[in-house]
Amino acid sequence: MKKIGIIGGMSYESSIHYYERINDGVNKILGGLTCAEMIIYNVNFAPIREKMLKNDWEGIKNSLIPVAKTLEKSGVDAIAIATNTIHKIADDLEKELSIPLIHIADCVSQKCLHDKKKKIGLLGTKYTMEEDFLKDRLKKNGLEIVIPKEKEEIEEINRIIFDELCKGEIKETSKKYYIDCINHMIKKDGIEGIILGCTEIEMLIKQEDITIPVYDTTQAHIDSLVDYITEERA
Ligand code: GLU
Repeated sequence: MKKIGIIGGMSYESSIHYYERINDGVNKILGGLTCAEMIIYNVNFAPIREKMLKNDWEGIKNSLIPVAKTLEKSGVDAIAIATNTIHKIADDLEKELSIPLIHIADCVSQKCLHDKKKKIGLLGTKYTMEEDFLKDRLKKNGLEIVIPKEKEEIEEINRIIFDELCKGEIKETSKKYYIDCINHMIKKDGIEGIILGCTEIEMLIKQEDITIPVYDTTQAHIDSLVDYITEERA
């Protein structure tokens, strides 16, 4: 069995799911009392978010490189960042490490490609939707990515993530807002699937809410981590 190091806490509402479902997934494969050997380094999200708001990504990088190195030194075989947005600095972290980083975009791309879905909508924080760090990786993997067109939609989707979902608040009005955005992309852009490109969105949107396949980055990441730990992955 491989040992995994997870950079969590961004937010802790979604990191909980990593802990629970990785153990559950490993146990389903290996049985008995087996669970995952993993180290979760739960960072304090508040100062990271403050840096995000100041666009201080250099500061975020400098805070998280020591975290990744601590995990590496503790003897894990690979690292995972339990948030899409922080993958903005994934390449910088990976450069500092001699162990692999299991990239969330690769995990979700595999699910879309497995279903032969190529034109995919992407919801996430405004960084994830507007900037290229995640989209480029998804495109490199063969997907065509569509984001909501209107600036106000992007702002509202982003606000709901940080003001509600990261605090564990699930509101019917926000759920409806997300469903309307997705339906708009289905109608206007002909998307064949939707990526929930933020690790908290799965708390709000479920497959049964949407008429096209839903690709949840949290579960896709967890599934790949379980395969890696149990050495199911080639
Ligand atoms: N967990 C979220 C994501 O997957 C947003 C919080 C963060 O900025 O890390 O992007």
